[in-house]
Amino acid sequence: MAKKQPVIDKLVLPAKKLGLPLMPDYCERCHYIVLHMHGQFPFAPFPSIFSVIDSNTKKIFDWCFREGDLHSALACLGNLTENLVVPTYQTFQVDVGDDMVLRGSPDAIFKRDDGSLVIADYKCAQARGEYDPLFPVYRAQLSAYKYLAEALEWGTVAKMALIYTEPFVMQTAAQVAACKTKDGIKLDLRVKVVEVEPLTDDEMNGLFDVARKIYGLPVCPLQGRPGCRSCVQVDNLLDMVLPQIRAGASESLRDSIRYDVAMAASRIGAYARLFPSG
Ligand code: SF4
Repeated sequence: MAKKQPVIDKLVLPAKKLGLPLMPDYCERCHYIVLHMHGQFPFAPFPSIFSVIDSNTKKIFDWCFREGDLHSALACLGNLTENLVVPTYQTFQVDVGDDMVLRGSPDAIFKRDDGSLVIADYKCAQARGEYDPLFPVYRAQLSAYKYLAEALEWGTVAKMALIYTEPFVMQTAAQVAACKTKDGIKLDLRVKVVEVEPLTDDEMNGLFDVARKIYGLPVCPLQGRPGCRSCVQVDNLLDMVLPQIRAGASESLRDSIRYDVAMAASRIGAYARLFPSG
């Protein structure tokens, strides 16, 4: 008798997650969880301040375009003539085979005077380029946007870039003094543009295949990355909460569960704050 195959839903692959297998500390368990949670985590991997900075960076570059006063850091990307309205992931998506949808929403798509496109993503971090441990993931993310733009006939993508806003380290008293404002302080972020080469078709197809393989596993891999303690901590928290949830609840037990869940949430948050990164 033929072995029963697990039912596999269509995989929705976010551009940001395409490059996870390229991380030096890649963990299949993490990849499985990411692909199956569809972004609905009870926590965020990065503190929200980074999203705020990226969003404000985008507003400033948009303003520069509107005013015809392009930021000099963008000069290396060619003669940019238009700042296109970026698509949302609901429209910026394509089928990859019958079993997968690739989707995403880039931070910026610029048009050049020759009609070609530049796709960019804003990153608030030190601009270490390929020495950044997250660089392979960023490269795959931009390559996925290129794949989407060309599949959806937005145009030919001539360049891909990371636009870093890098915290400026103040070294003189004058620099410190210049950051005082009437109501608070302002922190200086320096803009650096790092051009990124796209992945080859073979590299893209390889990453699609890894995502398919991990998504199609019948169960989440039990073993995490050797030495990574985060899963052990989360398992301990779940051990504390789940028995009470399964046992059903009197009113007092429900109060206790709420307390334990709040404790768990607070401990997970405290744990995550041990690893600040941009
Ligand atoms: S072992 Fe670490 S990297 Fe792997 S799933 Fe757990 S927390 Fe994520």
